[in-house]
Amino acid sequence: MLKSTLNHGEQGITSSHPSLYKTGPNLYRLLCCKCSVICYVNETTFQRASRAILAGADNPFFCHNCEEEPEVWLFAE
Ligand SMILES: [Zn+2]
Repeated sequence: MLKSTLNHGEQGITSSHPSLYKTGPNLYRLLCCKCSVICYVNETTFQRASRAILAGADNPFFCHNCEEEPEVWLFAE
């Protein structure tokens, strides 16, 4: 698992992190399950959350403010 993008602090396309506005690959809206803020996520994240919700699980999506265990998304696939 490459972590080379973790230290890039500049604003830009972040392929795996939700944003509060539609940008780059973040074209899909998800509500944070904790604070219900609307976030935009990429297709992969959206599909993971959709699969969980369709399977009857709770919305697993946390916005970056509520995110407590980011590893969840790293090993989800
Ligand atoms: Zn939140």
